[in-house]
Amino acid sequence: MSLPPLVEPAAELTVDEVRRYSRHLIIPDVGMAGQKRLKNAKVLCVGAGGLGSPALMYLAAAGVGTLGVIDFDVVDESNLQRQIIHGQSDVGRPKAESAAATVREINPLVDVVVHNTALTNDNVMEIFSGYDLIVDGTDNFATRYMVNDAAVLLGKPYVWGSIYRFDGQASVFWAEHGPCYRCLYPEPPPPGMVPSCAEGGVLGVLCASIGSIQVNEAIKLLTGIGDPLVGRLMIYDALEMKYRDVKVRKDPECVLCGKNPTVTQLLDDYEAFCGAISDEAAEAATGSTITARELKAMQDNGDDIFLVDVREINEYEIVSIPGATLIPKGEFLNGSALEKLPQDKRIVLHCKSGARSAEALAIVKNAGFSDAVHVGGGVLSWVATVDPSLPSY
Ligand SMILES: [Zn+2]
Repeated sequence: MSLPPLVEPAAELTVDEVRRYSRHLIIPDVGMAGQKRLKNAKVLCVGAGGLGSPALMYLAAAGVGTLGVIDFDVVDESNLQRQIIHGQSDVGRPKAESAAATVREINPLVDVVVHNTALTNDNVMEIFSGYDLIVDGTDNFATRYMVNDAAVLLGKPYVWGSIYRFDGQASVFWAEHGPCYRCLYPEPPPPGMVPSCAEGGVLGVLCASIGSIQVNEAIKLLTGIGDPLVGRLMIYDALEMKYRDVKVRKDPECVLCGKNPTVTQLLDDYEAFCGAISDEAAEAATGSTITARELKAMQDNGDDIFLVDVREINEYEIVSIPGATLIPKGEFLNGSALEKLPQDKRIVLHCKSGARSAEALAIVKNAGFSDAVHVGGGVLSWVATVDPSLPSY
């Protein structure tokens, strides 16, 4: 499958531009016409994190004329293992600004548009409408569905990537020519089923592998060369060092891009659609959530509690709350955790942020531990409010 170029060529390249892009210009498939198209192109990168870092840097170096970067977050020390667009001196700085500074350093000819804000229902359509193509470097399902829906409603191609530990995926979703993200994933995964990189980790260099595929596809779409990753899902296994691609068909019943769409505008609440935590977990946590400070007070009082850390052992080794027993969430899901819980003590569960412990809490309460509670904010809250000397992650 080949597609026509997404953008018209700019009128001309300056002498400086010819010098800078000479290694592109002498590739017959790109040439002067392709480079002029890149100059005229407007690309938005959603997120200046793991995928956004290499994506923005290579898009800038390639000479994409207008590069938008949207991110609401600030650079944290734990980002630097993979988010190579930021450096040590950027810690604490807004990611969008830090990324823009690096882009300008790589290529001052690029017009960088900084959106130092969260992408929301209220701004996504307006922001997207200013760009030819969207590169998605987000790490959560709510934003992905919102990005997909806005891209389909506006008729824009959406270059998607995802990373976890040693596994990466990438595809191009473009409803005019193939499937959309909802054709591939009609429903978000059940809350708590798919761990995030913050929970499960990611090999830093994997970001470069997948981010560079995204840039590769963006350049092909903008200039109209090659066989785009439309209707195909690229799957990369860094441990086996294998790439394979599988066909993704457009779903005629897709609620967004199918024959009889029922989603004809943005959803009111993507967080609710994807469910930050399940209904059962939310119900279990209501009235049964304590703060990290309250946990500390219980410990200082000598209360008869049994503190359970439901994270994974790798996380436990990085930082743990004193006195906690490690029983990973999976053991609650398969039921084996229950026999490890004492009947004569109050069960207090915690995880990193409070999401996994809420899921485990629902199981524990169902099993009859009616006075069990979990720690809202988990280890992150413990480090922030009780013991800032501990490392965060
Ligand atoms: Zn679809």
